Amino acid sequence: MPERADVCIIGGGVVGCSIAYHLARTSRLKIVLLEQGHLGGGSTGRSAGGIRRQFLTAIHIQLSIESLKMFQTFREETGWEPGFRETGYLFLLSTEEERTRFRRAVELQRRLGVAVEVLSPPEIQRLVPCLRVDDVLEGTLTPGDGYASPHQVVWGYAERAADLGVQVRERCEVTGVNVRGGRVQGIESREGQIAAPVVINAAGPYAGPVGWMAGVEVPVTPWRRQLFVTAPVADLAREVPVTIDVHRNWYFRREEGGALIPAPTDRQSSFNTAVDWEIVPEVRSAGVHRLPALADVEIVRGWAGLYEISPDNHPILGESEVQGFYLACGFSGHGFMHGPVAGKLIAELILNGRTTGIDITPLSPQRFREAQLIQEPLTMHGVKESDVRSPMSEVQRPMTDDR
Ligand SMILES: Cc1cc2nc3c(=O)[nH]c(=O)nc-3n(C[C@H](O)[C@H](O)[C@H](O)COP(=O)(O)OP(=O)(O)OC[C@H]3O[C@@H](n4cnc5c(N)ncnc54)[C@H](O)[C@@H]3O)c2cc1C
Repeated sequence: MPERADVCIIGGGVVGCSIAYHLARTSRLKIVLLEQGHLGGGSTGRSAGGIRRQFLTAIHIQLSIESLKMFQTFREETGWEPGFRETGYLFLLSTEEERTRFRRAVELQRRLGVAVEVLSPPEIQRLVPCLRVDDVLEGTLTPGDGYASPHQVVWGYAERAADLGVQVRERCEVTGVNVRGGRVQGIESREGQIAAPVVINAAGPYAGPVGWMAGVEVPVTPWRRQLFVTAPVADLAREVPVTIDVHRNWYFRREEGGALIPAPTDRQSSFNTAVDWEIVPEVRSAGVHRLPALADVEIVRGWAGLYEISPDNHPILGESEVQGFYLACGFSGHGFMHGPVAGKLIAELILNGRTTGIDITPLSPQRFREAQLIQEPLTMHGVKESDVRSPMSEVQRPMTDDR
């Protein structure tokens, strides 16, 4: 007889752990979470931890507003310190087109209750003296945003979920999803079979291959994203807002007294997470224009992870065409900040058939079949409206050797 559970969650990143915790907190279901490596060892542990409410679509802003509240109360909720630093998020705008686009966004953000300030170049300079601002027209600042520790958040959710009875299994790869008559039956793993009426695909950049196990096309494409940290910078002795140069599609934040800076995202499908050290001079010089102090500091470490890009850069949340097989993936580089609320919403959907607070119908997997894509040009991988791909292109085929 196979083992039985009520719910199997595939993936132990922030999304899977948040779902496990929220399901366990509000039900008595038997829940098993399966993680092929270690908790937080996927994209979550490689994320920059950024949490912001400056987006251009209402649904993204709402997800951020709710998640931010959850980061703020995370310690009371889980007993774990999430390491939230309220540095604010600052966007720098250098062209009239950017200014117009962001003024529209500011209006929407304010309408939804976000306190966002519009700053002049001298105000930006006072806030972040080490920035070059002579070519900046304006800035938009959300003081309440910031960043937190991905590992602490994952462990907070996972440990509390385990306290509530969830079986968390690390080093346990799911190798198959059983489906009969259009209904999910359970999973196959390296440790055996589990029969379950509900299976959740929270496999981050591997959501495509995991979807194929159930015969479901999940349009999530992995893109490598690399981050580097410099030696301490004298001008960054204290915290500054996470600062995004919209025109250059570049950002930095403080990390260990130095600057955390990105390489351009590799906009091609790949599971490669090796660091390309040859790109280091380019990474540093790309930032010198905005942060001149970078010219004099070494890059001391770096890492690479995978973004999980959906065709419209919004998460895919809901039941797939296979009954009982739920998708919680495709966060497109925003899954750390949206993981807390996504876990709560998926738990509500499974337990009650509907969500409270945020209507996630527009995020359902069916939108790709119905061509109801959402447009969000404000991403850190610089996707413009014209780049939004046709729904089912670039979907990953089942397991390749480079996993
Ligand atoms: C460099 C970088 C910087 C980022 N910065 C930010 C940021 O500042 N803010 C932000 O909000 N987001 C950021 N992101 C995006 C964020 O990291 C992701 O959106 C988020 O971590 C997704 O969480 P997840 O739980 O869905 O995926 P993951 O953390 O990848 O978890 C999925 C898990 O599923 C497991 N898995 C896969 N297949 C199987 C299987 N067959 N069996 C069992 N387990 C399996 C994997 O091992 C993995 O641990 C960044 C990402 C990168 C790469």
